[in-house]
Amino acid sequence: MTTETRTTCPYCGVGCGVIATRHDDGSVTVKGDPDHPSNYGRLCSKGSALGETLDMDGRLLYPEINGDRASWDSALDIVAEKFLSSIREHGPDSVAFYLSGQSLTEDYYVANKLMKGFIGSANVDTNSRLCMASSVAGHRRAFGSDTVPGIYEDLELADLIVLTGSNLAWCHPVIYQRIAAAKTARPHMKIVVIDPRRTMTCDIADMHLGIKPDADVALFNGLLAHLARSPAFNAAYVAAYTEGFDDALAAAKEQNATTLSSITGLSWEELTAFFELFERTEKVVTCYSQGVNQSMSGTDKVNAIINCHFATGRIGRPGMGPFSLTGQPNAMGGREVGGLANMLAAHLALENEDHRRLVQDFWKAPVMATRAGLKAVDMFQAVADGRIKALWIMSTNPVVSLPEADNVKAALAACPFVVVSDIQKNTDTAAFADVLLPALGWGEKDGTVTNSERRISRQRAFLAEPGEAMADWRQLAEVGRRIGFESAFAWEDASEVFSEHAALSALENNGTRDFDIGAHAAISKNGFDALTPFQWPQPANKPPVETRFFAEGGFYTPNRKGRFIAVRQQAHEIEPAYPFTLNTGRIRDQWHTMTRTGKSARLSQHIAEPFCEINPADAAELGVAPASLVKIESPHGTNIVRALVTPRQRRGSIFMPMHWTAQFASSARADVLVKAKVDPHSGQPALKQAGVSLKPFAAGAYGFAVTAEKPEHLENVPYWALARADSGWRIELGFDEPVEDWGAWCRNAFGLSGDAEIIGYTDRQKGVARLAFFEGEKLLAALYVATEPVEVSRNWAVAQLGKHHGNTRTRFAIAAGRPGQDQPDPGAIVCSCFSIGINQITSAIEAGHATVEAIGECTKAGTNCGSCRSEIRGMIHEHRLPAAAE
Ligand code: SF4
Repeated sequence: MTTETRTTCPYCGVGCGVIATRHDDGSVTVKGDPDHPSNYGRLCSKGSALGETLDMDGRLLYPEINGDRASWDSALDIVAEKFLSSIREHGPDSVAFYLSGQSLTEDYYVANKLMKGFIGSANVDTNSRLCMASSVAGHRRAFGSDTVPGIYEDLELADLIVLTGSNLAWCHPVIYQRIAAAKTARPHMKIVVIDPRRTMTCDIADMHLGIKPDADVALFNGLLAHLARSPAFNAAYVAAYTEGFDDALAAAKEQNATTLSSITGLSWEELTAFFELFERTEKVVTCYSQGVNQSMSGTDKVNAIINCHFATGRIGRPGMGPFSLTGQPNAMGGREVGGLANMLAAHLALENEDHRRLVQDFWKAPVMATRAGLKAVDMFQAVADGRIKALWIMSTNPVVSLPEADNVKAALAACPFVVVSDIQKNTDTAAFADVLLPALGWGEKDGTVTNSERRISRQRAFLAEPGEAMADWRQLAEVGRRIGFESAFAWEDASEVFSEHAALSALENNGTRDFDIGAHAAISKNGFDALTPFQWPQPANKPPVETRFFAEGGFYTPNRKGRFIAVRQQAHEIEPAYPFTLNTGRIRDQWHTMTRTGKSARLSQHIAEPFCEINPADAAELGVAPASLVKIESPHGTNIVRALVTPRQRRGSIFMPMHWTAQFASSARADVLVKAKVDPHSGQPALKQAGVSLKPFAAGAYGFAVTAEKPEHLENVPYWALARADSGWRIELGFDEPVEDWGAWCRNAFGLSGDAEIIGYTDRQKGVARLAFFEGEKLLAALYVATEPVEVSRNWAVAQLGKHHGNTRTRFAIAAGRPGQDQPDPGAIVCSCFSIGINQITSAIEAGHATVEAIGECTKAGTNCGSCRSEIRGMIHEHRLPAAAE
């Protein structure tokens, strides 16, 4: 029987509603939920492909102890025993939990309760520390609470949207689509993008400020100084509802026009154009995400932005306010339950004795953490130096995502006891687990998440629990019971955890704290099952309303005033040996460390290998040719990736995606390069300002291969990158020198039997090989080798896997890597939904289709999820430039 379930996308912080349909054959299709107020039916490419990521390939289905299958009882017993013995011998701070913005609120709640109230340490932190901790710290400094004042609707009501450090088109695609639609409906709406890179988001921008990396404090200080002497200055708001303006302005005025221009790298004309636009536009929203947060001065940047909104009183009213866009689906939910080492549950303060007592009494907890625990980077440092002796990692892959990632690897290898709960068995981090615990994944687990606009939505189970996988919160509760706290961890299901969390939020609240969902404190299981998305706050006995904060003050500071914070631009030091600033970030069709999106062939075809964006002038100086391989080095590690030479990249800076792991590439974990330096207020690492050097990687041979089976022996290849294809895998290769016998190499690397028929040729003198292997009519593998980056019709070659090839001419065409005239090469895929490639879109443009809509009508590209529309718009624009010059 076909069943439909309303649930929430598990990827980014937009929090789109999804309708998942389970069909009779067990397959799952998804579509956007038209009734969900975050997306109104839209989904991006990642959300649209959710149904393709649910297979059991690589799933961890049973607990393991030291690599051997174990029963749940023995696995949980050993976890409880090892944690308890460490606590007894070395104290509560010798153990830690490291969680994830992918964890559901219920998972987070139980972990925090166990660690902070029953173990007595606050060593519970999360990968959200890498994502938005600076926003939390900035909010708490300015508002006295971690409050996002606005709602998504503001992005459609604004007349000016400033996007700073935020590549919405790729990282929050549905928000981007909502803004693009609003701008189409109201063309006078202006969009300013502040980013060192000319990202895809710039395609809807009226103004792009290509700022120097990390110069946002200077820019917004300049804006504050400008606003203070302009008619936009709202003296009444500042006087009635805030404090600290004079100090903030004095700090802002320390820089003059010349220094501002040189610090930001922006001309005075650019600066004044932006300042004046901001000044004269009442309805302005400033959105920011990782480009602001992932910095040693991330918190100051957040406050520099909020200062400008305070000075104009543009906050908490329709179409106005600072807006932190969270990266992960439940970074906000984690914050609500105190999922950071320096926070307590329900937006209560760990440093406040009364708050601690309140929570301790509510939990009936025997002990209570009295001081902040270790934040992510410090936590792994404590693992490295032996202070932490037992660590439980849930739903995250720190061996890939933390800075100085090779040190994290070494720390885990040396840690006496590591527990990893995950859905996948072979992650870079799982390799270091003493105990592996199988977790439930999206579609199997049940609970809530909170998106960037404070909207709490349900993630619902619609699939059977596979193998012996168990919800994370239940694993934690089982351990809580085993260490002696039976009644405190006795929930039957996720609804009971949620109800306890809601009750705590209302405890002695009475409007003194922003987070209050007391209306759900007595929710039943049926009520939880039926829960529709709602925004907090939702106190008991009050009708649900969509709330903005702070239009008329009411901050959560002791005197209820908002606080201007005096901030100053920090110097950006560049070491001569590492002259490039490495910026890391996301790409459109992958999510985090690819454990789920890496399963989808459709998503993997957009960008199939790790790359480094570099400006053409820098590339020319270094002798880096387009599409060649480059070696990137820092004092902490080395990467080898493909060079993407593009004027979108600023000189002196490079960009690398943060997704690739050792499961997908030989040497492309970007965060091994990044120094573990953090913002002093938030503890958030500066993942966008690593100093690196760059040089060509002198490959003696380049290769591209397709293979029906996953290759097992690439260990001696200096560069390889693996991606899913519809009926197998595609692999990019780089060798130090040509291999003596390419046929033998293929047989070993791709696990081909000696019986496989081989077609093709090798020309050693020219350094070329083109080989295809068949078993009957089935293509097993094909390899294309050259001394330069291989020119081959990649997507066509990939498409030959899984087809029947009885025809000799076709078999030779595959070996040659050249489709016949009747099979045009689509080129690199732009539209993942319909697999429309760059060559097809270019042909449509050349045929006179001059708008995204016209291209869509002609090719279907961009007509489903819309995530590729910015790239299509860019292609049309690029095509117009040479045409205009003719
Ligand atoms: Fe998921 Fe895309 Fe929506 Fe983000 S924008 S929640 S990734 S569908």
